[in-house]
Amino acid sequence: MRHYNIPIFIPELACPNRCIYCNQQNISGQLFLPSKEEIIEKINSHLLSFKRPYIAEVAFFGGNFTGIEIEKQINYLELVQPYIKNKDIESIRISTRPDYINKDILDILKQYNVKTIELGAQSLCQDVLDFSERGHSVEDVEKAAKLINDNGFELGLQMMIGLPLDTLEKSILTANKIIHLGAKSTRIYPTLVIEDTKLAQMYEQGVYKSLSLEEAVDWCSKIYPIFHDNNITILRVGLHPSEALINSKDLVAGAFHVSFRELVLTKIWEEKLLAIESNNSKSVIISVCSKSINQAIGYYSQNKNLLKNRFKAVKFKSDNNLKEFEFNYILE
Ligand code: SF4
Repeated sequence: MRHYNIPIFIPELACPNRCIYCNQQNISGQLFLPSKEEIIEKINSHLLSFKRPYIAEVAFFGGNFTGIEIEKQINYLELVQPYIKNKDIESIRISTRPDYINKDILDILKQYNVKTIELGAQSLCQDVLDFSERGHSVEDVEKAAKLINDNGFELGLQMMIGLPLDTLEKSILTANKIIHLGAKSTRIYPTLVIEDTKLAQMYEQGVYKSLSLEEAVDWCSKIYPIFHDNNITILRVGLHPSEALINSKDLVAGAFHVSFRELVLTKIWEEKLLAIESNNSKSVIISVCSKSINQAIGYYSQNKNLLKNRFKAVKFKSDNNLKEFEFNYILE
């Protein structure tokens, strides 16, 4: 069964906070809260493009859904109800801040078929949260996560890497805490420096240094397996390549690459495959599951080319008895 997502961005205006890295208006590429007509049109046009049978979800992403006035939240949620009734859409997911979750809000969300709640945790180290002026504590994330799980929602926790004061060790700690808090899914975002933010000022003054693309890929290649091994769905690695970022001058610095996830998977496989010693063999045949074959070969065949420094011939083939990230090889 195909799974589809209809993303509806609720931009910065919904969020009273201003984290030092955030210019939500530029990230979502729009300034105003979407109108009722715009949302209906978007849902209808997406539905027309879906191939049956499918499971579809409307996702209110962006700023801080539960921070909007309650009437507006209900208005948005109500727009989706006829589609749920007709079984065109199965459920709703929202993203919000951890300090905007309480029992009353959860009761409303439940009533309107919200199934998944994603919280921007970003870091589970208090010093990193404070420096980024997130305006909430690690304890807020813990309390919200428990409330969400206890009330039968599916929990997603998003994290960022490379915020000021962050280190690889702190990011790994955050990943482990996300698992411990019972998240079913995650998103890993390298910190980007966006125009018109406090972080951009810090970057320009030399107070903040962003992770290079290589460093961000390296960190993610260590974090990704932690989630994978604990059956956490990794919904995204890297920011959605919105046109606003690709085409404009909004991006000041940071590890942004349209194929960021592929780069991370290439790196994970590189570490595995470089363990193959040639022992004077001329060729190697590497078996991986079909899902992993492109990742193992690597972005622009990077891993295959690395192995070609050791072997005259390098061949990859699929073996679906192997799980993701498992491999066998034969030397000849
Ligand atoms: S909570 Fe989210 S939307 Fe609000 S300022 Fe921070 S990053 Fe931006």
